[in-house]
Amino acid sequence: MSADVLGVLRLLQLVLLQLCFVEGGILWDESGYILYCPCMGRFGNQADHFLGSLAFAKLLNRTLAVPPWVVYRHHTPPYTNMHVPYTEYFKLEPLLKYHRVISMEQFMEELAPAYWPAGKRTAYCFDLAAQRSPDKSACPMKDGNPFGPFWDHFNIDFDRSEIFSGISFSAYFKQHWMQRFPPTEHPVLALPGAPAQFPVTEEHRSLHKYIVWSDKMVDDGERHISSLLVRPYLGIHLRIGSDWKNACDMVKDGTAGSHFMASPQCVGYNRQNATPLTMEMCLPKLEDVKKTVTFWVKTIEARSVYVATDSESYEEELAKMFKGKVEVVALKPDVAQIDLYILGQADHFVGNCVSSFSAFVKRERDLKDRTSSFFGMDSSSFYKDEL
Ligand code: GDP
Ligand code: MN
Repeated sequence: MSADVLGVLRLLQLVLLQLCFVEGGILWDESGYILYCPCMGRFGNQADHFLGSLAFAKLLNRTLAVPPWVVYRHHTPPYTNMHVPYTEYFKLEPLLKYHRVISMEQFMEELAPAYWPAGKRTAYCFDLAAQRSPDKSACPMKDGNPFGPFWDHFNIDFDRSEIFSGISFSAYFKQHWMQRFPPTEHPVLALPGAPAQFPVTEEHRSLHKYIVWSDKMVDDGERHISSLLVRPYLGIHLRIGSDWKNACDMVKDGTAGSHFMASPQCVGYNRQNATPLTMEMCLPKLEDVKKTVTFWVKTIEARSVYVATDSESYEEELAKMFKGKVEVVALKPDVAQIDLYILGQADHFVGNCVSSFSAFVKRERDLKDRTSSFFGMDSSSFYKDEL
């Protein structure tokens, strides 16, 4: 082939490449966007809020900018928050089966410069939130942690505020939202918190099916399972650390009521006929844990027990009961989501009724028809014959 022809071919190749790039580039959604800070609680809370936010974006027919997970490092240097992209743990594509989404990172890199430039960024918040600002008319988007660091992570400052009141994020207010903030005038709704309830409502629980583990998480999780555990294995979540003890004091002194944090998942979503929430459900004692584990090991003929914990694992205490016949393993991974993955794959799971970390596992298992139960939920007679 002559040099000329080669040159022309190279040029053609370049042109084609550029065309592909334009094709692959993302188009602006005229129906608008929703941005929010996952500014309440740790992973479990953020995941609950994410499901409601997905539903809200669909309700308003806006693209959801999927935020990173805010990870706190209160006890480890450099103490600043990490903002872990959604895609570190989960795939983005399955979400598209439900509704249009874009990662917040991609939104900021590829769309914001042209369509949501600095100087033209409006914050949206409830009047109650605006009341906290000095002149009572600005949304306090960046006041304190995690608010400031979150928006700073994306170099976002806000230039003005739109304040609303008398509406909530439920479907009932769909028309109010559409009329108050049409996308032509309000293309980007940037909110200081998730447009969702905590805990997630019963109707939005099933959206969890669109939260699909990333290949890397599946690989890591499966590697741990095959190297540490023998099936069938029981997975348990111990939420017993000091912050949790303080929270459960509200159950002890009766101020919590039946609906307390994630408890609707086990006492029922209807307040009228919710079953009582007990201290054993919120903060199981070692004796409760032993009884429950013994029961389930026997029931599923478990050959190993996986313990995920926020503090102690009771590994030795539990192992002692089985005299070496059942392996008891706690990995205590740096990445908490590894625990979630392993619990999700267990042959049976016992979780904490009040914990949204447990709730993540419970939802995933429900969708896959895997069995779960909660500490403190089975009547004591249930165990009588077992011990
Ligand atoms: P909740 O407070 O139990 O409703 O759940 P959150 O997820 O909001 O907050 C608890 C946090 O404590 C989690 O996000 C984890 O960072 C940590 N944590 C709690 N339980 C466990 C556990 O079993 N394993 C690991 N690795 N971390 C846990
Ligand atoms: Mn929490």
